[in-house]
Amino acid sequence: MQIQKTSFAVKARSILPLADEQAARGAQLFARLKSIDNGVLIVHEGRVVALGKAREISLPADCQLTDLGAVSLIPGTINAHTHLDLSYLAGKTTWRQGFSAWLKSMIPLLPRGQIAQETLVQAIHKACQSLAAYGTSHVGNIAGSADHLLALTDTYAQEAGFGISHFCECFGFTNPPDSTEEHFWPPFVRRDLQEQPELTARAAPAGHALYSTSAEKLMQAKQFCRKRSRVFSLHLAESPEETEMLTLGRGSLYEIFRQSVLPETWQAPGKRPLAYACQLGLLGAGTLAVHGVDLTSQEAQVLAASGTALCLCPRSNEHLAVGSADVKTLMSENVLLCLGTDGLSSNTDLDVCQEALYLHEHADIPVEALVRMLTVNAARALGLGKQVGRLIPGSPAVFSILPQELRF
Ligand SMILES: [Zn+2]
Repeated sequence: MQIQKTSFAVKARSILPLADEQAARGAQLFARLKSIDNGVLIVHEGRVVALGKAREISLPADCQLTDLGAVSLIPGTINAHTHLDLSYLAGKTTWRQGFSAWLKSMIPLLPRGQIAQETLVQAIHKACQSLAAYGTSHVGNIAGSADHLLALTDTYAQEAGFGISHFCECFGFTNPPDSTEEHFWPPFVRRDLQEQPELTARAAPAGHALYSTSAEKLMQAKQFCRKRSRVFSLHLAESPEETEMLTLGRGSLYEIFRQSVLPETWQAPGKRPLAYACQLGLLGAGTLAVHGVDLTSQEAQVLAASGTALCLCPRSNEHLAVGSADVKTLMSENVLLCLGTDGLSSNTDLDVCQEALYLHEHADIPVEALVRMLTVNAARALGLGKQVGRLIPGSPAVFSILPQELRF
């Protein structure tokens, strides 16, 4: 829920400000969260000015109070991984038949000229409005699938009132002609970044995946991010097909890529995804890996020790029938976890609270851990400031209401 830029106050049965909370791992995830029962949050000019118990806080004279009832209010959530560019694919791809079947159904629909720009743009606009309605304060978005979408998406996010990190996705095996910085950026975002250089402050080159993008491109993008203290993101260990392709150089995913993406000289690295990412130097603090479905407990340990953050997208994984990340093991091995919806090509909506609800219902993950993943953990994973993911005086007045089932 986005609050308008006037004096305003809301009352809720409980408010969880997460004011003093740091990003949490392992047992820290389950610690009690401070809750303000019968809390009131006062807002002025789009910023939180005060919060406290209803009986202890005095409202300014011109401030209107809205009672939201028996709900739990948390800071605006952070959706750490989505694909706004793919919003036009909602309902158009094949689900529940594995990753390769999904990808096969998507390839002919990708924006390569045949999809009207207007269709893409309208879908992005609508998706941004829905993110605002869900109480999203920040989004980690994969960008770079068509020209001019970066600047447009940035504008729509700002209009909707949430922050955005643009992960500009490098893809394919055609290596750049030289190592000038311009070539670190994927082709579709270059013009927008040239015309609006201020966008680079919110953008970073990212990798699509180990099986789809050359080792050189991935390493260059990671290096670029490391030098500039930007977060580097890539899809990692999303499906059994990915593991099969990387370890054995065969399978349905390999067949799709062999036809149009892989060079004839491509050879499987002969390693599982995590080991290969390690070998290329892609992991470490400042890396946000996405999915982590096919990880052993030993690999979870390696991931945690490297300082890599992991974004879980459980509903997307379920829709594509790729298996599910072992969240309890990832937690017990101290991996820094956050949540993302993935795009509308593999999900029904972009409400990241629904990912939390899914993990609560399907993996029995406690609410305290989920609230941390939705807020302070994601803020750390995306390298955001201390005001994001917390409700404190001065923070943007964006909050989210927990689903009834997760209520405090
Ligand atoms: Zn994704």
